[in-house]
Amino acid sequence: MPFLPELAAPAALSEPLPGGKVRCLACAHRCSVAEGASGVCGVRFNSGGRLMAPWGYVSGAAPDPIEKKPFFHVLPGARTLSFGMFGCNFRCDFCQNWEIAGVKSAARLVPGKVSAGRLAAEAAAAGARAVISTYNEPLITAEWGAAVFAEAKKRGLRTGFVSNGYATPECAAFLKPVLDLWKVDLKSFDDAKYSRVCGGRLAKVLDGIRLIRAAGFWLEVVTLVVPGFNDSDAELHAMADFLAGLSPDVPWHLTAFHPDHLMADGEPTPPETLYRAREIALRRGLRYAYCGNVPGGAGQDTFCPACGKAVVKREGFSVRSVLLDGGGRCPCGAKVPGIWS
Ligand code: SF4
Repeated sequence: MPFLPELAAPAALSEPLPGGKVRCLACAHRCSVAEGASGVCGVRFNSGGRLMAPWGYVSGAAPDPIEKKPFFHVLPGARTLSFGMFGCNFRCDFCQNWEIAGVKSAARLVPGKVSAGRLAAEAAAAGARAVISTYNEPLITAEWGAAVFAEAKKRGLRTGFVSNGYATPECAAFLKPVLDLWKVDLKSFDDAKYSRVCGGRLAKVLDGIRLIRAAGFWLEVVTLVVPGFNDSDAELHAMADFLAGLSPDVPWHLTAFHPDHLMADGEPTPPETLYRAREIALRRGLRYAYCGNVPGGAGQDTFCPACGKAVVKREGFSVRSVLLDGGGRCPCGAKVPGIWS
Protein backbone atom coordinates (compact mmCIF):
# COMPACT_ATOMS: atom_id res chain seq x y z
CA MET A 1 0.00 0.00 0.00
CA PRO A 2 1.63 3.35 -1.01
CA PHE A 3 2.26 5.90 1.71
CA LEU A 4 -0.06 8.96 1.51
CA PRO A 5 -0.97 8.38 -2.16
CA GLU A 6 -3.29 11.41 -2.08
CA LEU A 7 -0.33 13.65 -1.20
CA ALA A 8 2.01 12.72 -4.05
CA ALA A 9 2.92 14.02 -7.50
CA PRO A 10 4.88 12.56 -10.45
CA ALA A 11 8.59 12.51 -9.59
CA ALA A 12 10.92 14.44 -11.89
CA LEU A 13 13.90 12.51 -10.49
CA SER A 14 13.08 9.19 -12.12
CA GLU A 15 13.48 7.29 -15.35
CA PRO A 16 11.49 4.42 -16.87
CA LEU A 17 12.85 0.87 -16.86
CA PRO A 18 11.62 -2.13 -18.85
CA GLY A 19 8.62 -4.05 -17.53
CA GLY A 20 6.81 -1.12 -15.92
CA LYS A 21 9.55 -0.52 -13.37
CA VAL A 22 11.02 2.92 -12.66
CA ARG A 23 14.46 3.99 -11.48
CA CYS A 24 14.47 6.64 -8.76
CA LEU A 25 17.31 9.15 -9.15
CA ALA A 26 16.69 11.15 -5.97
CA CYS A 27 19.25 9.40 -3.76
CA ALA A 28 22.21 7.09 -4.04
CA HIS A 29 20.14 3.97 -3.37
CA ARG A 30 18.90 4.40 -6.97
CA CYS A 31 15.99 2.08 -6.28
CA SER A 32 14.43 0.12 -9.10
CA VAL A 33 10.76 0.25 -8.11
CA ALA A 34 8.23 -2.24 -9.45
CA GLU A 35 4.58 -1.42 -10.15
CA GLY A 36 2.73 -0.99 -6.83
CA ALA A 37 5.94 -1.04 -4.76
CA SER A 38 7.82 1.66 -2.87
CA GLY A 39 11.53 2.46 -2.67
CA VAL A 40 13.74 1.99 0.39
CA CYS A 41 12.46 5.31 1.81
CA GLY A 42 8.89 4.03 1.77
CA VAL A 43 7.43 7.32 0.49
CA ARG A 44 8.23 7.22 -3.26
CA PHE A 45 6.18 4.63 -5.10
CA ASN A 46 5.42 3.28 -8.54
CA SER A 47 1.86 3.89 -9.67
CA GLY A 48 1.04 2.62 -13.15
CA GLY A 49 4.68 2.71 -14.27
CA ARG A 50 5.20 6.26 -12.99
CA LEU A 51 7.22 7.16 -9.91
CA MET A 52 5.29 9.30 -7.44
CA ALA A 53 6.92 11.52 -4.80
CA PRO A 54 5.55 13.28 -1.68
CA TRP A 55 3.89 16.60 -2.40
CA GLY A 56 1.79 19.31 -0.78
CA TYR A 57 2.23 18.72 2.95
CA VAL A 58 4.59 19.14 5.87
CA SER A 59 5.09 16.97 8.93
CA GLY A 60 5.86 20.21 10.74
CA ALA A 61 7.16 23.72 10.17
CA ALA A 62 8.71 26.00 12.77
CA PRO A 63 10.97 29.02 13.12
CA ASP A 64 14.55 28.22 14.10
CA PRO A 65 17.79 30.16 14.41
CA ILE A 66 20.11 29.20 11.56
CA GLU A 67 22.68 28.16 14.19
CA LYS A 68 20.39 25.28 15.16
CA LYS A 69 20.61 23.59 11.73
CA PRO A 70 23.59 24.12 12.23
CA PHE A 71 24.94 26.62 9.71
CA PHE A 72 27.67 28.73 11.34
CA HIS A 73 28.98 30.43 8.19
CA VAL A 74 25.64 31.66 6.86
CA LEU A 75 23.80 34.84 7.96
CA PRO A 76 24.71 34.74 11.67
CA GLY A 77 21.66 35.08 13.90
CA ALA A 78 19.20 34.75 11.02
CA ARG A 79 15.78 33.30 11.61
CA THR A 80 14.82 30.40 9.35
CA LEU A 81 11.64 28.51 8.66
CA SER A 82 12.34 24.78 9.01
CA PHE A 83 9.98 22.27 7.45
CA GLY A 84 9.95 18.53 6.95
CA MET A 85 7.91 15.69 5.52
CA PHE A 86 7.83 11.96 6.35
CA GLY A 87 10.20 9.06 5.62
CA CYS A 88 13.93 8.46 5.33
CA ASN A 89 16.34 6.54 3.12
CA PHE A 90 18.47 5.60 6.18
CA ARG A 91 17.44 3.82 9.37
CA CYS A 92 19.91 5.04 11.99
CA ASP A 93 19.74 3.37 15.40
CA PHE A 94 20.42 6.76 17.03
CA CYS A 95 17.83 8.67 14.98
CA GLN A 96 16.49 11.67 16.88
CA ASN A 97 13.50 12.13 14.53
CA TRP A 98 12.45 8.49 14.29
CA GLU A 99 8.72 9.16 14.62
CA ILE A 100 8.53 11.05 11.33
CA ALA A 101 11.42 9.19 9.66
CA GLY A 102 9.80 5.75 9.70
CA VAL A 103 6.68 5.29 7.59
CA LYS A 104 5.14 2.94 10.18
CA SER A 105 5.43 5.45 13.02
CA ALA A 106 4.60 8.36 10.68
CA ALA A 107 1.34 6.66 9.65
CA ARG A 108 -0.07 7.66 13.05
CA LEU A 109 0.69 11.34 12.40
CA VAL A 110 -1.38 13.90 10.53
CA PRO A 111 0.26 15.71 7.60
CA GLY A 112 -0.36 19.44 7.35
CA LYS A 113 -1.55 20.20 3.82
CA VAL A 114 -0.02 23.37 2.42
CA SER A 115 1.03 24.85 -0.93
CA ALA A 116 4.66 25.71 -1.68
CA GLY A 117 3.69 29.36 -2.20
CA ARG A 118 1.90 29.61 1.11
CA LEU A 119 4.77 28.02 3.03
CA ALA A 120 7.27 30.45 1.48
CA ALA A 121 4.95 33.42 2.05
CA GLU A 122 4.54 32.45 5.72
CA ALA A 123 8.34 32.20 6.06
CA ALA A 124 8.82 35.68 4.59
CA ALA A 125 6.00 37.15 6.68
CA ALA A 126 7.56 35.71 9.84
CA GLY A 127 10.87 37.44 9.07
CA ALA A 128 12.76 34.30 8.05
CA ARG A 129 15.81 34.85 5.86
CA ALA A 130 16.04 31.22 4.82
CA VAL A 131 13.82 28.17 4.46
CA ILE A 132 15.36 24.84 5.37
CA SER A 133 14.15 21.35 4.46
CA THR A 134 14.97 19.29 7.56
CA TYR A 135 13.49 16.92 10.20
CA ASN A 136 13.36 14.01 7.72
CA GLU A 137 15.77 13.34 4.81
CA PRO A 138 15.10 16.05 2.20
CA LEU A 139 16.61 14.13 -0.74
CA ILE A 140 13.63 11.78 -0.81
CA THR A 141 11.26 14.74 -1.15
CA ALA A 142 13.51 16.80 -3.42
CA GLU A 143 10.78 17.81 -5.89
CA TRP A 144 8.58 19.29 -3.15
CA GLY A 145 11.61 20.97 -1.60
CA ALA A 146 12.51 22.49 -4.96
CA ALA A 147 8.97 23.85 -5.34
CA VAL A 148 9.12 25.51 -1.90
CA PHE A 149 12.61 26.85 -2.62
CA ALA A 150 11.54 28.35 -5.95
CA GLU A 151 8.80 30.25 -4.13
CA ALA A 152 11.25 31.27 -1.40
CA LYS A 153 13.70 32.59 -4.00
CA LYS A 154 10.96 34.84 -5.41
CA ARG A 155 10.82 36.40 -1.93
CA GLY A 156 14.59 36.84 -1.65
CA LEU A 157 15.17 34.02 0.84
CA ARG A 158 18.08 31.60 1.06
CA THR A 159 17.35 27.89 0.93
CA GLY A 160 18.92 24.88 2.61
CA PHE A 161 18.99 21.11 3.06
CA VAL A 162 19.79 19.26 6.30
CA SER A 163 20.72 15.92 4.79
CA ASN A 164 22.58 12.64 5.13
CA GLY A 165 24.45 13.46 1.92
CA TYR A 166 23.27 10.42 -0.08
CA ALA A 167 23.10 12.68 -3.12
CA THR A 168 23.17 11.83 -6.81
CA PRO A 169 24.51 14.01 -9.63
CA GLU A 170 20.98 14.12 -11.06
CA CYS A 171 19.51 15.41 -7.80
CA ALA A 172 22.29 17.96 -7.31
CA ALA A 173 21.76 19.31 -10.85
CA PHE A 174 17.99 19.41 -10.33
CA LEU A 175 18.36 21.39 -7.08
CA LYS A 176 21.19 23.71 -8.09
CA PRO A 177 19.00 26.54 -9.46
CA VAL A 178 17.03 26.85 -6.20
CA LEU A 179 19.19 25.47 -3.36
CA ASP A 180 22.02 27.40 -1.65
CA LEU A 181 23.06 25.51 1.50
CA TRP A 182 23.68 21.88 2.30
CA LYS A 183 24.39 20.54 5.76
CA VAL A 184 25.53 16.93 5.58
CA ASP A 185 25.92 14.33 8.31
CA LEU A 186 29.10 12.29 8.26
CA LYS A 187 28.13 9.61 10.74
CA SER A 188 31.21 7.39 10.70
CA PHE A 189 34.27 6.56 8.63
CA ASP A 190 33.66 2.82 8.76
CA ASP A 191 31.63 1.26 5.96
CA ALA A 192 30.53 -1.73 8.04
CA LYS A 193 29.15 0.56 10.73
CA TYR A 194 27.39 2.78 8.18
CA SER A 195 25.79 -0.25 6.67
CA ARG A 196 24.81 -1.94 9.94
CA VAL A 197 23.62 1.07 11.94
CA CYS A 198 22.30 3.41 9.22
CA GLY A 199 21.59 1.27 6.15
CA GLY A 200 23.87 3.33 3.90
CA ARG A 201 27.35 2.93 2.42
CA LEU A 202 30.26 5.14 3.41
CA ALA A 203 31.67 5.48 -0.14
CA LYS A 204 28.35 6.85 -1.40
CA VAL A 205 28.18 9.41 1.42
CA LEU A 206 31.74 10.53 0.67
CA ASP A 207 30.88 10.77 -3.04
CA GLY A 208 27.85 12.85 -2.09
CA ILE A 209 29.91 15.24 0.03
CA ARG A 210 32.48 15.66 -2.79
CA LEU A 211 29.67 16.23 -5.28
CA ILE A 212 27.89 18.83 -3.12
CA ARG A 213 31.09 20.78 -2.58
CA ALA A 214 32.18 20.55 -6.24
CA ALA A 215 28.73 21.67 -7.43
CA GLY A 216 29.12 24.93 -5.51
CA PHE A 217 26.54 24.53 -2.74
CA TRP A 218 27.63 26.02 0.59
CA LEU A 219 28.58 22.91 2.59
CA GLU A 220 28.86 22.38 6.35
CA VAL A 221 29.40 18.90 7.81
CA VAL A 222 28.11 17.52 11.11
CA THR A 223 29.20 14.45 13.02
CA LEU A 224 27.09 13.29 15.94
CA VAL A 225 29.84 11.92 18.17
CA VAL A 226 28.46 8.78 19.82
CA PRO A 227 30.52 7.15 22.60
CA GLY A 228 31.79 3.74 21.54
CA PHE A 229 30.50 4.20 17.99
CA ASN A 230 32.62 6.83 16.23
CA ASP A 231 34.64 8.58 18.97
CA SER A 232 37.99 6.80 18.61
CA ASP A 233 41.00 8.93 17.73
CA ALA A 234 41.55 6.81 14.61
CA GLU A 235 38.04 7.38 13.27
CA LEU A 236 38.04 11.10 14.08
CA HIS A 237 41.45 11.43 12.36
CA ALA A 238 40.11 9.68 9.27
CA MET A 239 37.05 11.94 9.06
CA ALA A 240 39.13 15.08 9.64
CA ASP A 241 41.64 14.03 6.95
CA PHE A 242 38.86 13.45 4.43
CA LEU A 243 37.28 16.85 5.09
CA ALA A 244 40.59 18.72 5.15
CA GLY A 245 41.46 17.03 1.85
CA LEU A 246 38.24 18.40 0.41
CA SER A 247 39.03 21.88 1.72
CA PRO A 248 40.36 23.27 5.01
CA ASP A 249 37.46 25.74 4.77
CA VAL A 250 34.68 23.16 5.21
CA PRO A 251 33.17 23.83 8.67
CA TRP A 252 32.90 20.64 10.77
CA HIS A 253 30.43 20.49 13.67
CA LEU A 254 31.05 17.88 16.34
CA THR A 255 27.84 17.46 18.30
CA ALA A 256 26.95 15.60 21.46
CA PHE A 257 24.73 12.52 21.36
CA HIS A 258 21.73 12.21 23.65
CA PRO A 259 20.46 8.62 24.07
CA ASP A 260 17.46 8.01 21.81
CA HIS A 261 15.55 5.46 19.73
CA LEU A 262 17.38 2.10 19.50
CA MET A 263 20.37 3.53 21.40
CA ALA A 264 18.24 4.89 24.27
CA ASP A 265 20.39 3.07 26.82
CA GLY A 266 23.64 4.55 25.46
CA GLU A 267 25.83 7.11 27.23
CA PRO A 268 25.56 10.83 26.41
CA THR A 269 28.71 12.29 24.87
CA PRO A 270 30.96 13.94 27.49
CA PRO A 271 31.99 17.51 26.52
CA GLU A 272 35.66 16.43 26.82
CA THR A 273 35.14 14.03 23.90
CA LEU A 274 33.95 16.91 21.71
CA TYR A 275 36.88 19.10 22.77
CA ARG A 276 39.26 16.23 21.87
CA ALA A 277 37.55 15.80 18.50
CA ARG A 278 37.80 19.52 17.79
CA GLU A 279 41.52 19.51 18.62
CA ILE A 280 42.02 16.63 16.19
CA ALA A 281 40.15 18.55 13.47
CA LEU A 282 42.27 21.66 13.94
CA ARG A 283 45.52 19.65 14.06
CA ARG A 284 44.58 17.87 10.80
CA GLY A 285 44.21 21.21 9.04
CA LEU A 286 40.54 22.17 9.27
CA ARG A 287 40.18 25.88 10.04
CA TYR A 288 36.64 25.81 11.40
CA ALA A 289 35.69 23.07 13.85
CA TYR A 290 32.85 23.51 16.34
CA CYS A 291 31.38 21.74 19.34
CA GLY A 292 27.61 21.41 19.51
CA ASN A 293 25.05 20.45 22.16
CA VAL A 294 27.46 21.37 24.95
CA PRO A 295 26.74 23.76 27.80
CA GLY A 296 28.18 27.27 27.52
CA GLY A 297 29.95 28.52 24.44
CA ALA A 298 33.13 26.41 24.41
CA GLY A 299 34.28 25.52 20.92
CA GLN A 300 31.50 27.49 19.22
CA ASP A 301 33.21 30.71 18.08
CA THR A 302 34.59 31.38 14.61
CA PHE A 303 38.17 32.60 14.52
CA CYS A 304 39.82 34.60 11.76
CA PRO A 305 42.33 32.30 10.02
CA ALA A 306 44.80 35.19 9.65
CA CYS A 307 44.82 37.16 12.93
CA GLY A 308 43.13 34.63 15.25
CA LYS A 309 40.48 37.06 16.49
CA ALA A 310 37.06 35.64 17.46
CA VAL A 311 35.02 37.14 14.61
CA VAL A 312 31.72 35.44 15.46
CA LYS A 313 31.03 34.71 19.12
CA ARG A 314 28.22 32.29 19.97
CA GLU A 315 26.62 30.68 22.96
CA GLY A 316 24.27 27.84 22.22
CA PHE A 317 22.11 29.01 19.31
CA SER A 318 22.64 32.69 20.14
CA VAL A 319 25.11 34.97 18.39
CA ARG A 320 26.87 37.30 20.85
CA SER A 321 28.87 39.39 18.36
CA VAL A 322 29.91 39.50 14.72
CA LEU A 323 33.02 41.39 13.60
CA LEU A 324 32.80 40.36 9.94
CA ASP A 325 31.51 42.73 7.30
CA GLY A 326 28.91 41.72 4.72
CA GLY A 327 31.62 40.19 2.55
CA GLY A 328 32.92 38.05 5.41
CA ARG A 329 36.02 40.20 5.99
CA CYS A 330 37.65 40.39 9.40
CA PRO A 331 38.80 43.89 10.50
CA CYS A 332 42.33 42.63 9.66
CA GLY A 333 41.22 42.23 6.03
CA ALA A 334 41.23 38.43 5.81
CA LYS A 335 38.13 36.72 4.43
CA VAL A 336 36.23 34.00 6.24
CA PRO A 337 34.41 31.70 3.80
CA GLY A 338 30.63 31.60 3.93
CA ILE A 339 27.51 33.58 3.04
CA TRP A 340 27.42 36.59 5.30
CA SER A 341 24.87 38.89 3.70
S1 SF4 B 1 14.65 8.48 -2.65
FE1 SF4 B 1 16.25 6.93 -2.46
S2 SF4 B 1 15.35 5.36 -1.15
FE2 SF4 B 1 13.63 6.61 -1.92
S3 SF4 B 1 12.95 5.54 -3.78
FE3 SF4 B 1 14.43 7.10 -4.38
S4 SF4 B 1 16.41 6.01 -4.50
FE4 SF4 B 1 14.99 4.74 -3.27
